Amino acid sequence: MIETDILVVGAGPAGSMAAKHGSLNGADVILIDKKSEIGSPKRCAEGVSKEGLKFLGIEPKPRWVVKEIEGIRLVAPDGTDVWLNDEIKLPEAGYILERKIFDKHMAMDAGRAGAEIKVKTIAKSLKKEGDSYIVTCESMGKEFNIKAKILIGADGPESHIGRWAGLKTATKAKDMESGIQFEMCNVKMIDPNVLEFYFGSIAPGGYAWIFPKEDDIANVGLAVIQSKSEKTAYEYLVDFVKTCPATQDAKIVELNVGGDPVGGMIKDLSADNILIIGDAASQVNPLTGGGIINGMTGGIFAGEVAAKAIKEGNYSKKYLSKYNELCEDHLGDKMNKYLKVRDYLDALNNDELNSIAVAFQDVEFTEISTPELIKNLVKISPKALLKLGKLF
Ligand SMILES: Cc1cc2nc3c(=O)[nH]c(=O)nc-3n(C[C@H](O)[C@H](O)[C@H](O)COP(=O)(O)OP(=O)(O)OC[C@H]3O[C@@H](n4cnc5c(N)ncnc54)[C@H](O)[C@@H]3O)c2cc1C
Repeated sequence: MIETDILVVGAGPAGSMAAKHGSLNGADVILIDKKSEIGSPKRCAEGVSKEGLKFLGIEPKPRWVVKEIEGIRLVAPDGTDVWLNDEIKLPEAGYILERKIFDKHMAMDAGRAGAEIKVKTIAKSLKKEGDSYIVTCESMGKEFNIKAKILIGADGPESHIGRWAGLKTATKAKDMESGIQFEMCNVKMIDPNVLEFYFGSIAPGGYAWIFPKEDDIANVGLAVIQSKSEKTAYEYLVDFVKTCPATQDAKIVELNVGGDPVGGMIKDLSADNILIIGDAASQVNPLTGGGIINGMTGGIFAGEVAAKAIKEGNYSKKYLSKYNELCEDHLGDKMNKYLKVRDYLDALNNDELNSIAVAFQDVEFTEISTPELIKNLVKISPKALLKLGKLF
């Protein structure tokens, strides 16, 4: 039996951040991941905001930043497009990462801070014993147990840890986007420094994207809500790639598939001896589906609170609920607002989206940010004013 203060299951960005901050704050931490290579395969379009990284105190490194983004292009179902890239402040513009390197880099940071890292190690089951969790793991064909005073579930969108521990982490089907993506070369983007978003019935309940990684390389993907869709996400993507002028001659070099929980943060973030973070806790922006920065934010809070709990010898739900409070303060309000915007946009048909795009062409945007987009949406659409008027 291996014993530790904190066991983190899942070395995605959220788990590595929790392991790092748990270690930096003096706790013994073990971080495990079932993958043999952390970060691979990726399930992500790899976009993050500059502000987000800054907030997390992470310096961008050329090793894992492959592209700096200079703007966005919004494309309506009839092809009307809105460019936000000229003389506009870019607080939410950002970087395209190479997740396979980024995730490993974040795990290395956790290792440098003192965490022990076990790759190709899967958590198979758990049980509560006294004031600890005992997690049965398997690595290289061998089973063994890890006993931890505090368990952190960072095991991504399919999350088992929380559910095994009795927390309500399940995502309703209506809130789980099916994401699918090709990494492609020979993509002919009008401007390979701009993120492209395509809306409407090409991706019911979600949107399609082209996120450039190099001049002719891009992540081309989409996410749909399956219950609102008539085809599989894969079929929607194949159709999109065939019809979009930028991708008609493009070649697929990678296929990425994954669920994205967009229903807002779960209520049950912690219980005695356990905390849940990242996608496992639905810490995903419901509007964009982006979860890297939010998950890492949850990771910092979880690592810090867990390490303090270890120092105080108090692993109770009451003590650990400080983590819930921090998440609620920093993520809760924003996520609730974005959930409302998502619901509003979901209800629009292609014609309504086309009219918004036409009206947006005359708007002078001062910055690229979601609040700025919503403020302008409210100005041009009486329906939006009614539903979203007081949000931002
Ligand atoms: C198609 C798609 C595109 C996306 N694009 C973006 C984007 O552009 N920007 C953005 O911010 N977000 C994006 N996201 C969301 C983003 O990828 C996630 O929010 C982010 O990866 C969450 O990090 P995490 O650490 O919580 O989970 P993950 O990154 O999913 O990491 C979980 C880890 O847990 C491990 N694990 C799972 N179960 C076990 C177990 N039992 N034992 C051991 N290890 C286990 C897994 O191997 C994995 O490494 C996208 C998602 C999808 C599906």
